[in-house]
Amino acid sequence: MKTVTILGATGSIGQNTIDLIARRPETFRVVALTGGRNIAQLAEDAIRLRAEIAVTGFEAGLEELRDRLSGSGVEAAAGQAALNEAAARPVDWVMSAIVGFAGLEPGLSALRPGTTLALANKESLVCAGALLMGEAQAQGATILPVDSEHSAVFQALVGEDMEAVERIVITASGGAFRDWPEDRLAGATLAEASSHPNWDMGQRITIDSASLFNKAMELIETREFFRVSPEQIEVVIHPESLIHALVGFRDGALMAHVGPPDMRHAIGYALNWPERNDLPVERLDLVKIGQMTFRNADQARHPALRLAREVMEAGGLSGAVFNAAKESALDGFIAGRIGFLDMAQVVEEVLNRLSGDATGPGAMTLDAVREIDARARTQADAVMTGFAAR
Ligand code: NDP
Ligand code: MG
Repeated sequence: MKTVTILGATGSIGQNTIDLIARRPETFRVVALTGGRNIAQLAEDAIRLRAEIAVTGFEAGLEELRDRLSGSGVEAAAGQAALNEAAARPVDWVMSAIVGFAGLEPGLSALRPGTTLALANKESLVCAGALLMGEAQAQGATILPVDSEHSAVFQALVGEDMEAVERIVITASGGAFRDWPEDRLAGATLAEASSHPNWDMGQRITIDSASLFNKAMELIETREFFRVSPEQIEVVIHPESLIHALVGFRDGALMAHVGPPDMRHAIGYALNWPERNDLPVERLDLVKIGQMTFRNADQARHPALRLAREVMEAGGLSGAVFNAAKESALDGFIAGRIGFLDMAQVVEEVLNRLSGDATGPGAMTLDAVREIDARARTQADAVMTGFAAR
């Protein structure tokens, strides 16, 4: 039996993870499930999968969670400390799939000797890559990528020597607006930005795909996972989303990972690692596909990519500033406070304002990350207020 915990169980990645686990009850035993506001889903899955404990990140949901779990034998808890405590229960495998900065601490708590952390929460690597990787090493835990591009790179690197790697190419679908003329982007609405041409994902990452902020985050994620230099990482637009990433070696070979746009592949790879096992994903018919196309990911059209490169150059805590400003700008766009193109401007302005504080010397600590995260959010709020007065 493999014991598992799913952080962010009620979300898109969480539900795909549950789909895979529920198919093999003889292999997996669920210890903890965590969610946010969707208490009904959390309780239903916790009962169905016979979890030990179900936790909502929000105290206000505790009463409803207790009601729904009453008589089931599943423990109920709520709040940040409870999330961390549940994440720290010893298990073989943990899925980190809370969205945003909120996923960092539970992810850190989950790192224990012998545990494998399947990391979908890219924000924690962008904010605090050194902290997360350092803690994994100190604890003797393993972190596996779940983001499709990074899972693809990881798979292409099996048996290879990092010394032989020349470059890593991650692909981007281009998101909802890839075929829009540039002059239409300023007027893009929330509904338009919230629909993805190829992938079915949570709303936040879907909008981040349209703005290319998701790919910007993934550039930094690639650097943190694989420790290659920024110049070795490329982004290419690939509208079909069939090749997820390629690794280029010193002999000129490019190893591509090809698969359907279904997150259950990357989740399942991390779940079964180091073995492979059957997964219920579509088998690609290459003849039917016929062709795959690639386009330049223009940095002038996609300022998010340029900003990510500046962040990688700057290092230190600038990833935490970048993420916090991006999360705030996204909140601002969702709330109708700022326009689609304003998001990149907010992030750029916050990076400028905090650049002196984000790149100081010294080891990265959780407190320092939390503090700069809060300051970046305050700054982003001020920038957006300024925008509203234009
Ligand atoms: P969703 O928005 O679908 O799900 C997010 C999960 O986090 C839900 O369980 C939600 O609970 C929970 N949550 C939200 N806020 C909090 C909080 N403050 N405290 C505790 N829990 C909280 O997101 P996705 O599943 O799309 O994405 C999850 C992560 O995986 C993100 O980091 C994303 O970037 C990454 N990822 C996602 C991919 C995808 O295909 N979806 C692909 C690659 C990476 P509730 O819904 O109950 O409120
Ligand atoms: Mg991805």
